Amino acid sequence: MDYFEYRNGELWAEGVRVKELAERFGTPLYVYSKKTLERHYKAFDNALGELDHLTCFSVKANSNVSLLRLLGERGAGVDIVSGGELYRALKAGIDPRRIVFSGVGKQEHEIREALKADILMFNVESAQELKQIGRIAAELNTTARISIRINPDVDPKTHPYISTGLKQNKFGLDMLEATGAYLLAKETPSVEPVGMDCHIGSQLTQIGPFVEALKKLLAFADRLQGSGVDIRYLDLGGGLGITYNEEAPPLPAELGQAIADTISGRKLTVILEPGRAIAGNAGILATRVLYTKKTSAKNFVIVDAAMNDLVRPSLYGAYHRIGEVNPKGREKIVVDVVGPICESSDFLAQDRRLPAMEPGEYLAVFSAGAYGFTMSSQYNSRPRAAEVIVDGSRVTLARQRETYADLIALEI
Ligand SMILES: *Cc1c(COP(=O)(O)O)cnc(C)c1O
Repeated sequence: MDYFEYRNGELWAEGVRVKELAERFGTPLYVYSKKTLERHYKAFDNALGELDHLTCFSVKANSNVSLLRLLGERGAGVDIVSGGELYRALKAGIDPRRIVFSGVGKQEHEIREALKADILMFNVESAQELKQIGRIAAELNTTARISIRINPDVDPKTHPYISTGLKQNKFGLDMLEATGAYLLAKETPSVEPVGMDCHIGSQLTQIGPFVEALKKLLAFADRLQGSGVDIRYLDLGGGLGITYNEEAPPLPAELGQAIADTISGRKLTVILEPGRAIAGNAGILATRVLYTKKTSAKNFVIVDAAMNDLVRPSLYGAYHRIGEVNPKGREKIVVDVVGPICESSDFLAQDRRLPAMEPGEYLAVFSAGAYGFTMSSQYNSRPRAAEVIVDGSRVTLARQRETYADLIALEI
């Protein structure tokens, strides 16, 4: 459920006309709805209401500082995967004790920065990383709280590029290796094993794989207890899917219920790391039609947003719903919506039924709030898009459109 809707024959973002935003800020333009973000965050927070829990928004889904601040003010923690994301989170005022650090290749300086910030815990992905964290923590005279990321070998039934919990994936440790890592952690004075973690994939549309992973983790945690390792935090990662097209993913409340039922009675703090499910449908990408052209094979709608702005269609063949900002009730034709970039993979939609558009009209690419701007680039020397946050009838510029000068600012 989101607050982008058609009223009086045009598309609104909460209390603001999208056309007005496009004209005022230019296109391509990312538009986020504050009410939608809050609603989705609350849905997760309430989903685990009965359990001791922490909702850590995954910064890689949308790392805009204003957006992070908005979530932080509502009590959200964050899941980070780099020093840069730590920097953003701290700038956004996120409580460090609500920050978990994931990722398979944490660098020495990043570990140091996170230890100095006193984050809640590191989700550790290898024995070498564990030793590195232990060494740096000792050097800084501190203790690193860690969890081991378990690869539970569960099929999340999603796109192969966004499956992360299968044994052929690079993420986490299997339980045998993890046992060794926990024992090593226990013997390392500068490391305190407090949690267990997994993240099995993204855009999951079923609860089954979550529950399967959870059961494996709980059984493993019970076995570890016998070795004197006391797991207090159980981090189930992110991954809940959203509706891009016709998917019907479970609601956070259903996931929460399934977790509560499975955990029943144990004294654990449950952490979830949703990214897409909070931000995905809280954002759209507004774009302007530049030209249309009809070839012997296809109808093309050429727009000013491209794969550098939103790469998901090119990268994963992902589907994003596209709609007119000002519908005119025209008959639909089958078109490819493409950008100006010199790559055949530069498309936002292929073989899509859309009205015959005219140059200068605006289109909205829906479900663009997660893995949209954060995956954007300057390819073809295209300055990155602006981002705005709508709050009722108020609009805040959350990131200026880049300029040509920005393109070369760091070049010597
Ligand atoms: C990407 C990622 C997430 C967020 O995934 P979503 O599908 O956006 O919810 C959470 N945790 C980890 C470790 C991740 O890598």
